[in-house]
Amino acid sequence: MLTDQELLRYSRQILLQHVDIDGQLRLKNARALIVGLGGLGAPVAMYLAAAGVGELHLADFDTVDLTNLQRQIIHDTDSVGQAKVDSAIHRLSALNPEIKLVAHRIALDADTLAAAVAAVDVVLDCSDNFSTREAVNAACVAACKPLISGAAIRLEGQLSVFDPRRADSPCYHCLYGHGSDTELTCSEAGVVGPLVGLVGSLQALEALKLLAGFGEPLVGRLLLIDALSTRFRELRVKRDPGCSVCGTRHG
Ligand SMILES: [Zn+2]
Repeated sequence: MLTDQELLRYSRQILLQHVDIDGQLRLKNARALIVGLGGLGAPVAMYLAAAGVGELHLADFDTVDLTNLQRQIIHDTDSVGQAKVDSAIHRLSALNPEIKLVAHRIALDADTLAAAVAAVDVVLDCSDNFSTREAVNAACVAACKPLISGAAIRLEGQLSVFDPRRADSPCYHCLYGHGSDTELTCSEAGVVGPLVGLVGSLQALEALKLLAGFGEPLVGRLLLIDALSTRFRELRVKRDPGCSVCGTRHG
């Protein structure tokens, strides 16, 4: 059940027929893993906490740096030098004391990632490098958990949802194949804050839809955002039957 305080706190989204009490209860009973508490993870964590997702599992091994604050709005000047997970927990528990926060202050390897993914209902990849994205995707396919993947660099953003529970859904590897870690990260190539805020907000929205059970998720579609011209494009993405990660799934 929802308490009077919760009914009041979440009243503006409970008003929506797509959410209602049932959807809010589903959010309260839901668990989400957020991998990375940087520019994408900041709005993701804050919106999911504010919306009342019952358990947020937060993974980041890094500490807050002054150069992060231009875009990673969950952290503030006083948190420079702190573990990002601790800084995020400080902010999120002030935002919403009703939810449970679980900390992973380490770089997740294959074993710890498998356990972390198995413990939640949805995974949000907010990391900034290809090898982490590949590892998170493999863990999600193995555990059959939906993955909401976002990326932003310079003035371009991308977003898609991969849901191994659906036979027609591609996985991250179907789409990107063998990328490489020689790709630049935001700390090397630069990025504008509102763009990661936009992509992160869309990731949080997709998570609320999946968890509360409304709307049409961004599965089999890749959203491309060009911040320079403010243009959004959508590409169809098909599952690759020969994919080395998800190809043997469903027999
Ligand atoms: Zn695949």
